[in-house]
Amino acid sequence: MAMIIAPDLANQPITAAPALAKKLEKLGIRRRFDLVLHLPLRYEDESHLFPIKHAPYGQPALVEGLVVAQEVQFRPRRQLLVRIEDDSGQLLLRFIHFYPSQQKQMAQGVRLRVLGEVRRGFFGDEMVHPKCRPVTPGEPLADRMTPVYPTLSGLTQPPLRKLIHAELRAQPMAETLPPGWREQLGLCTFAEAVQLLHAPTPDYSLQQLNDPLLPAWQRLKFDELLAQQLSMRLSYRQRRTGNAPRLLGDGSLRHALGANLPFTLTEAQQKVLVEILADMREPHPMQRLLQGDVGSGKTVVAAMAALAAIEAGYQVALMAPTEILAEQHYLKLSAWLAPLGIDVAWLSGSLRKKQKTETLARIADGAVRLTVGTHALFQDDVSFQRLGLAIVDEQHRFGVGQRLALKDKGGEPHQLMMSATPIPRTLAMSYYADLDVSIIDQLPPGRSPIVTKLVNSDRRDEMVAHVARICAKGQQAYWVCPLIEESEALQLQTAVDTFEALTAELPEWRVGLVHGRMKPAEKAEVMAAFAANEIQLLVATTVIEVGVDVPNATLMIIEHSERMGLSQLHQLRGRVGRGSAGGICVLMFETPLSALAKARLKVIYQYTDGFEIARQDLQIRGPGELLGARQSGMPMLRFADLEQDAELLAQARELAPRMLSDAPECAQAHLARWLAGREHFLKA
Ligand code: ADP
Ligand code: MG
Repeated sequence: MAMIIAPDLANQPITAAPALAKKLEKLGIRRRFDLVLHLPLRYEDESHLFPIKHAPYGQPALVEGLVVAQEVQFRPRRQLLVRIEDDSGQLLLRFIHFYPSQQKQMAQGVRLRVLGEVRRGFFGDEMVHPKCRPVTPGEPLADRMTPVYPTLSGLTQPPLRKLIHAELRAQPMAETLPPGWREQLGLCTFAEAVQLLHAPTPDYSLQQLNDPLLPAWQRLKFDELLAQQLSMRLSYRQRRTGNAPRLLGDGSLRHALGANLPFTLTEAQQKVLVEILADMREPHPMQRLLQGDVGSGKTVVAAMAALAAIEAGYQVALMAPTEILAEQHYLKLSAWLAPLGIDVAWLSGSLRKKQKTETLARIADGAVRLTVGTHALFQDDVSFQRLGLAIVDEQHRFGVGQRLALKDKGGEPHQLMMSATPIPRTLAMSYYADLDVSIIDQLPPGRSPIVTKLVNSDRRDEMVAHVARICAKGQQAYWVCPLIEESEALQLQTAVDTFEALTAELPEWRVGLVHGRMKPAEKAEVMAAFAANEIQLLVATTVIEVGVDVPNATLMIIEHSERMGLSQLHQLRGRVGRGSAGGICVLMFETPLSALAKARLKVIYQYTDGFEIARQDLQIRGPGELLGARQSGMPMLRFADLEQDAELLAQARELAPRMLSDAPECAQAHLARWLAGREHFLKA
């Protein structure tokens, strides 16, 4: 039931001279409707006239008077002084930059209307560089506030105002909500909303106009959220029309794995597994996001889902964003699945040609049941005999396009996406509304809490001593080198330097190094040595961020933690305290700290719950960071704020499916207005 979005008046490109069109484009204005949505930054009030004596200080005010004196002063600097007068008093206007034409315009005897901020000057009340206009006596005041639009140099307010206001008159600002809905929601009409915001009447105060609860703002926010929900809902529905194999396994392999595991699944793991397996039995492709905090045990859930597909006679692909993570999955899954007689393959860009050809052949003829790999799995030369399930770990790092590429291999497999970066509820309800979501909301038993410490970098020596102490107890530690975004080479150098320094400082312990530039085999070797406690201290760049699992590692020291994002720190911290011995995470920081860095470190220090951290992150940085690659191609919200407008979001979410089924023509018009030009995303 694909919906085609008809272009309407709103979507016509603007007609403007090329130079102007280019400037407008820079402001994000391409279609005529973009003009309607180009809302003022602020307003100037030219609708109230103050007697000079009563003009308030420190805020823009409009006054009118006759010019009684004008002079050009040369000391302390050249400036034009104009004195005006009304019945209540006098005011000095001061211009530091001026043209002869202005002097003429403000000649003695001229009646001037002046907008500016009054302040107390040395020679009495004055305005510096006010906006001035000669008027005739009794000239009517503006009956609207004057909008000030966001613009860029070379495009002044008057032409922009003219364009926008012409568009407001030219377009019928028709309602897109189905009859009766607007009243029920208690919203004003769309026409009222944009009229008010572009040209408010003087009975609104500037404060009211900035209030997010103003009905006009509420309407725009709601419409925007509704458009987002409609598009998400459409792509969700579209996928439901695809065909996927019904994966009805007999449970034998799952049972066998369960019997071999040293633990039983938590209730939360069982619950999400039931949800996933139910989807896989459906004849259309699953699109489910599995969320769980770091350490919540997503891998075993993925393994069970994979086994269900394999039981049904299908192949499974598991994809991870980095080689290290993919390798970890490969090692863990082959350890679990090989004893069940299942052939697991490894596929990455760094495989030698011969190995790769061989692996590809085994995937193509169906001998391999589970393939684990990196982006290499997306490549054209990979073709499955019968792909039933694709699992994507850390899905937010893959773009939409890459997800689709995989879909094209061998028909449409079911898709399970996993995310170790918990997504706050409001974000899940908006940008992820096209997916079904399962949440593991419980950690496996027996985990001891991690203690987080904030330590100034000048106490580095104490930290080295700390490492020596825990190694003496038979435990292990990570030492994470700072993220240096500007230069990978510098980051590498820092890691090598740190490794050499620590090797010298800790002669009785073995220190290892792992970084992003190492060959996969080298990395695997170091990781294996660390897992076997042949290495006690692992110096690492942030490559260990995800998925590394060494329960005996109880201490993590992170240098320059102030440079890292919250979710990254949370991920890193999750690497310790995996066993029963508890864990300590030391966040070293360099002073002075910026306010933002301070706020972030405070959050990571205070909270251990990944969902709470993600929520705080959303507040501090907005949704962009959390969305990662998903962001590209996805229309970002301009007016609505996920936290502030959570209630409107909930309403939009509830109404979107009803609108699509009960009033499809309204839904179509609404989408055309808000998302036209982005149909490619809707089709994804
Ligand atoms: P994540 O969700 O971060 O990917 P993992 O799947 O790596 O977490 O699991 C973290 C650790 O917890 C692993 O060592 C895993 O074997 C273990 N684990 C998973 N489920 C359970 C469980 N139900 N009981 C005990 N340990 C578990
Ligand atoms: Mg994981």
